[in-house]
Amino acid sequence: MHGHKIQKTMKKTATLLFVLFLIIGCKEAQTQKKESDIKSKDMQQQEPTKPEETEQWEPQPVVVDPGSAATAPSDAIVLFNGTDLAEWVSAKDTSRAADWILNEDGSMTVRRGFDDIQTKRDFGSVQLHIEWRSPTIVVDEGQDRGNSGIFLQNRYEVQVLDNYENKTYANGQAGSLYKQTPPLVNACRPPGEWQTYDIIFHAPEFDRKGEKTRSATITVLHNGILVQDHTEILGTTEYIGWPKNKAHGKAPLKLQDHDCDVSYRNIWVREL
Ligand code: MG
Repeated sequence: MHGHKIQKTMKKTATLLFVLFLIIGCKEAQTQKKESDIKSKDMQQQEPTKPEETEQWEPQPVVVDPGSAATAPSDAIVLFNGTDLAEWVSAKDTSRAADWILNEDGSMTVRRGFDDIQTKRDFGSVQLHIEWRSPTIVVDEGQDRGNSGIFLQNRYEVQVLDNYENKTYANGQAGSLYKQTPPLVNACRPPGEWQTYDIIFHAPEFDRKGEKTRSATITVLHNGILVQDHTEILGTTEYIGWPKNKAHGKAPLKLQDHDCDVSYRNIWVREL
């Protein structure tokens, strides 16, 4: 009698375990189905023979209105659209409003001597679109001609410079990661013409001790032309000295006042 009871309990336990395995098995199959991007490990398995087997349906990419050439996409944070400088402050004194010159054509221009301006918001990895124009009337040469700069996370400068028939050190040209990596080509338009930068920036990572565990990377399209191709950023872009790698978190985007009348318009970011 006692033995019979034990047998019954064992049977029950076995059934329960079987059901449990079944549920786990199904769940695993579901997650595998969800994770439907083709990975190299999948390619070691038997090759699909039907087109549907390599189709990924879920999740569907989020629908974004791309806007026109002059407007931001629907999911972007607009940092400047020509109306005001509400998203910006003085970089020297962040309690001060950004007092660069607002123009009637929807652009803004460096107010010489005011200092750099930076966003109120902090950013990590971003896609950034920004348009800039160097002065029509050419004055000076080299680094003094239409110099400004776009600092990702307040530290990493993508150089803005009028490099149209204007020679200077390669790693200080327009589209360079300043004093680190020259642009792949010189894609500058003549002075006075609007130019675009489309930038994909991945922020660096640091561990708890403050050691860098992953370098930042940057891709830059200048007027639609690739000038930085997933370039590793070695550290801060110093005017003098080596790149530095002090740990930091999210930080503002900064535009440089380099005593030149450089203008900007249509600035937006998408956080990555
Ligand atoms: Mg500069």
